[in-house]
Amino acid sequence: MAHPWIADRALAFDSSGIRKVFELAAKMRDPINLSIGQPDFDVPEQARAAAMSAVQSRKNAYSITQGIAPLRERLQKQVEGELGHADRQLFITSGTSGGLVLTMMTLVNPGDEVLIFDPYFVAYEPLIKMVGGVPVVVDTAPDLRIDVDKVRKMLTPRTKVILLNSPTNPTGKVATEAEVEGLARLAAERNIALVSDEIYRLFCYDAPFVSPARFNPHTIVIDGFSKSHGMTGWRVGWIHGPSAVIEQMLKMQQFTFVCAPQPLQWGALTALDTDMSPQIAAYRGKRDLIYDGLREHYQVAKPGGAFYIFPRIPSGPAAPWRNAAEFVEQAIERELLIIPGHIFSRHADHFRISYAADERTLTRGIAVLQELAKVAGG
Ligand code: PMP
Repeated sequence: MAHPWIADRALAFDSSGIRKVFELAAKMRDPINLSIGQPDFDVPEQARAAAMSAVQSRKNAYSITQGIAPLRERLQKQVEGELGHADRQLFITSGTSGGLVLTMMTLVNPGDEVLIFDPYFVAYEPLIKMVGGVPVVVDTAPDLRIDVDKVRKMLTPRTKVILLNSPTNPTGKVATEAEVEGLARLAAERNIALVSDEIYRLFCYDAPFVSPARFNPHTIVIDGFSKSHGMTGWRVGWIHGPSAVIEQMLKMQQFTFVCAPQPLQWGALTALDTDMSPQIAAYRGKRDLIYDGLREHYQVAKPGGAFYIFPRIPSGPAAPWRNAAEFVEQAIERELLIIPGHIFSRHADHFRISYAADERTLTRGIAVLQELAKVAGG
């Protein structure tokens, strides 16, 4: 029985299964940690210095809700250069998560349906339920393709939002230009809000990133510095979209998050001067290392982006596990931390590896995974 004070919305979902793995990790001496959804590189040095200097020069008060002007203007210019929409407004949020919360609060009435693609980012369902929305799950198994005709058939008069995330957490899949364009045009045709979570935009290894906002000027784009600049703890992101929607979101931010931390906004501004392409190139190398280490032992799609890979659990005749949760238990016994796929999916036969780790960790992880595939036999 829940405590009598607790509101229904808090009981509508469980706490993240990922956190449970983090807690286990804290107890191990030298775990092979491939569970963490954040880069293993740090904030660029100049950006750290700029944040410290902002603190020292007493830029410690609230910023305006929109965010400090130099950062907002710089990002606005970047977005205008890429998209060139006449009616596109941008502001700074408290991380991408903050942007997602504001989006849900602003767009979703109780009972409204929000389409998400399975496998999905772990926070999407709780965020939808928090505002009384109904998550509608579009299965992309087995090939992870977005089938626009299938999406069309799942639309109802209550469909309010389609939430896209590409490159995708947890699969690393990058939607093709045709998929993105098809979805963007469908949303426009049916007057449904298309929300694009582009936090992994920089992490595209095989083809340039394509935003649905290119094809649908009403797209709401959520982005942030957490992954691109290794600053998950700084809580700085941004959001842009049609001004009528953005104005309402700003109002929501004013009374909730208020603003992103001011000194860290100054740091983020400086971070934009750093070329992150060496880090991205290194991550392409990590992608190749993990994929090449697993491809002969696991059923696994080659990820084109982000820093995740989502193999199927081995199902040979001697496999002592029945699902991903049991497989992950076996991995954890060998000090390898990975995340069972049921946390991101209605299916329970895959697991997520984050390869945002150093080469030694990756090599050790691959060795354990190869050993587990042998245990399964077949
Ligand atoms: N969206 C996706 C798809 C993510 O993977 C994450 C972080 N794991 C977020 C949003 C949240 O990022 P932030 O740190 O900017 O809140």
